[in-house]
Amino acid sequence: MRKLAEDRQDGGRRPMRRTIGTSMRAALRRFSTAPPRPVVVVHGGAWAIPESLTAASVAGCEAAARAGLEVLERGGSALDCVEAATRVLEDDKAFDAGHGAVLNELGEVELDAIVMDGADLRSGAVAAIGPVANPVSVARMVMERTPHCLLAGVGATRFAQSQGVPLLRSLDLVTAEAQAQWRELAAFPSAVKTLFNTHPLAASDTVGAVALDARGNLAAATSTGGITFKRAGRVGDSPLIGSGCYADNELGAVSCTGHGESIMRVLLARGVLALMDGRAAPDACALALRRMHARVGGCGGTISLKPSGEVGVCFSTPRMAWACARGGEVRS
Ligand code: ASP
Repeated sequence: MRKLAEDRQDGGRRPMRRTIGTSMRAALRRFSTAPPRPVVVVHGGAWAIPESLTAASVAGCEAAARAGLEVLERGGSALDCVEAATRVLEDDKAFDAGHGAVLNELGEVELDAIVMDGADLRSGAVAAIGPVANPVSVARMVMERTPHCLLAGVGATRFAQSQGVPLLRSLDLVTAEAQAQWRELAAFPSAVKTLFNTHPLAASDTVGAVALDARGNLAAATSTGGITFKRAGRVGDSPLIGSGCYADNELGAVSCTGHGESIMRVLLARGVLALMDGRAAPDACALALRRMHARVGGCGGTISLKPSGEVGVCFSTPRMAWACARGGEVRS
């Protein structure tokens, strides 16, 4: 895992100057005959990943990217792809989402997740939902089966059950390590921000995915158990449109991770997209993270895709697990 700001995926080319407006570019894309090459990028959270978790985090991201690419290669949509890739990450106990989620101050699991379809800007999300295995799929159900964008707490949990999603027990999802972390943090409770930025055990490995399908559609998803020992009812950036996730076929797709209370104050995902025009994707991610740190002090990471398929990966934490799959190739 490396800081991709230093490993530019645009081959080190200088950012293009702004020469053409977004809507004109979208119109030109409609007349272009070459179908876009499907691509998926996933992340497994930006934090001080310890050496002992590095291999599992990279392997988990690679498996999720491969699963996502398979969906795209079968002709699936970008939305199908980000849901499938995120489910793989949620099922992997190496990550703080679904199985592997962290516990809140009461020793309970409360999950946040979102999906967004860049084709029509539809989005669905759940916040502080009870223990379900794949909150990203419940988020998609909110999008497709309700007139709403976000369901929270008991209402979200009841909605999931009404759709046939089994409700688990918190202990079915958490690992022995998560329980040990909870016990350690219970010994010295303090503010979420202080914990996240200073205590390695309090970090969490949120997951997310962005994808471009063969029809030129973009989608994004983010899913998390949040921050260890968070206050009950605390909702981070992850399920909030424009903060933890955004997708718009005309602009790009972004999934974020990091200190939620900072990310939501600067609308990090939308901020990355606002910086994409006339900039390489990695540069937009890096600049948005620098601006967030300068304004509100938080750290994090973002993965992004431009409508052209250009990939951006950047993080301001010590490490972030990520992988990208395109054609037969997986990079991490
Ligand atoms: N952003 C997530 C939250 O604040 C945490 C993370 O990305 O690891 O809930």
